[in-house]
Amino acid sequence: MKIDKNSVVQFHYILTDADSNEQIETSRDGDPVLYLHGHRNIVSGLEEAMLGREKGDVFSVTVPPEKAYGLRQENRQQRVPVKHLLLAKKTQPKAGMTVHVQTDQGPMPATVVKAGKFTVDLDLNHPFAGKNLQFDVEIIAMREAEADEVAHGHAHGIGGHQH
Ligand code: ZN
Repeated sequence: MKIDKNSVVQFHYILTDADSNEQIETSRDGDPVLYLHGHRNIVSGLEEAMLGREKGDVFSVTVPPEKAYGLRQENRQQRVPVKHLLLAKKTQPKAGMTVHVQTDQGPMPATVVKAGKFTVDLDLNHPFAGKNLQFDVEIIAMREAEADEVAHGHAHGIGGHQH
């Protein structure tokens, strides 16, 4: 059985910045990710590399920004009141920190460029924008999707959508 449209796939990954070789994040300290193939639940470059794989496969793929979080845009800096940030209690925003800001479309990740007492200058590019991303993947399990998963456009279960 090979991964194809409407396969439900469970996988572990390690995500590395392919240019600096720094590890960004990994699923290995928790549950594997569960996703529904063919519904844009994961970045397109990784989804393309998943096609035709099988349970037990281990592989690496380097995904350019165009097929991940997009290119950095220079005009995406904005000054916002500190109170619009979703910060843990007693956290002071600092330059370089990744924060979430409340927007009309819900919380969005952003990077603090400059922090003042009442306002912060944010870079609203996704923190991974402009990066070449290396995914080291292991396919843990796969199955056919249930009808309600196809209807919802996402996988149900641990590591996927739970509702
Ligand atoms: Zn659902």
